[in-house]
Amino acid sequence: MRTSFGTMERFTGSFTQQEPIPEAGIAAALEVLRHGRLHRYNTAPGEVAETALLEEEFAAFLGARYCLAVASGGYAMTCALRAMGVTAGEPVLTNAFTLAPVPGAIASLGARPVFIETNENLTIDFTHLERMAGETGARLLLLSHMRGHMADMPALIALCNRLGVKVIEDCAHTMGAEWAGVPSGRFGVMACFSTQTYKHMNSGEGGFVTTDDPELAARSVLLSGSYMLYARHRAAPPPEAFEGLRLEIPNVSGRMDNLRAAILRPQVALLGERRARWTVLHEAMQAGLAATPGLRLTHRPEAERHVASSFQFLLPDWAPARITALIAACAARGVELKWFGAPEPVAFTSRYDHWLYAHPQPLPQTDRVLAGLIDMRLPLTFSAEDVARIARIIRAEVLRIGQAETVETVAAAPLAD
Ligand SMILES: *Cc1c(COP(=O)(O)O)cnc(C)c1O
Repeated sequence: MRTSFGTMERFTGSFTQQEPIPEAGIAAALEVLRHGRLHRYNTAPGEVAETALLEEEFAAFLGARYCLAVASGGYAMTCALRAMGVTAGEPVLTNAFTLAPVPGAIASLGARPVFIETNENLTIDFTHLERMAGETGARLLLLSHMRGHMADMPALIALCNRLGVKVIEDCAHTMGAEWAGVPSGRFGVMACFSTQTYKHMNSGEGGFVTTDDPELAARSVLLSGSYMLYARHRAAPPPEAFEGLRLEIPNVSGRMDNLRAAILRPQVALLGERRARWTVLHEAMQAGLAATPGLRLTHRPEAERHVASSFQFLLPDWAPARITALIAACAARGVELKWFGAPEPVAFTSRYDHWLYAHPQPLPQTDRVLAGLIDMRLPLTFSAEDVARIARIIRAEVLRIGQAETVETVAAAPLAD
């Protein structure tokens, strides 16, 4: 039956197209290119490097005492773990539902990622966290606010305090987000951010480490490769804080450069406005998918103020073949969905049991959640109308494929031109 196909709605936008760099960032980048002092410690007399200014501005935005700009979000995490003194063989707790650079940062130090179960709202499971902290004796949790979903942060920090576990926040998906008015990144002893193209500010690659602890800040600056020029930092502790450390901390170069900092500085001021626009897109998607039989939305708590650069929903208990059919049908209509239940990692969707180097133990609750977890990007180049259209397409296909008697009947239906 192809009769209705001509009227079938399609989406023609790109799920990977971000907004351009703001003109002010382009102009500042050109200036850096013209003077040629790209390295953060290459400054003219009296000049303050773009990187140092960016750190100061991001620290002020977040309300953190110290901020270090680095080469990537992944580097920020290894730097924070090193600053915390993580050693080879040490267990480090982390979310089972996260992205590959998180366990990768732990493994890069020879430490051992210990994966914690995920609940249906895509946040860390407190019961399993408590059990694994006890079983492994871990003293650190690298907490990933994966896809922007935040656990009840005061409750989590209280639990970790009781367990003697310190928290490093991975805020790659929560830059500008808040829990009960407190910014994400202000709960742990350290926090890590990414300015990679698909996050909330775009410099291609880049990241930040933030903390209020002068010793951790000084260690991070030295680790990032400060060549004894740490006094040129502004969002860092005074030189005295470096005295006892400067000959003890290895240089593991991973600095940010002035070109990227120039691109990023005007974007810090845009984070609030971007959050508001992402919220509009998120609400349009939620409204468009609400009350769709077979599809479950995650619960977003009142206290959470997210920066939703992506959207997730669950297809609980759907057979894999049905989900594959849904993804193909949506793709044929221009809607790019990712599935965390796929047997093989595809693009950005690898799963804890794909990280064989970490010898992951089976996590039945996480397996159940990820088996039906669908994910999509919401770039700011989409309008609310775009999102409403995308939601109509997903809803129609979820109804059609979810209610088909067999997957074979679905496969026989028209999917593409
Ligand atoms: C992107 C990302 C990071 C950091 O990644 P980089 O690409 O190294 O900047 C960290 N954690 C999560 C969950 C991410 O998605």
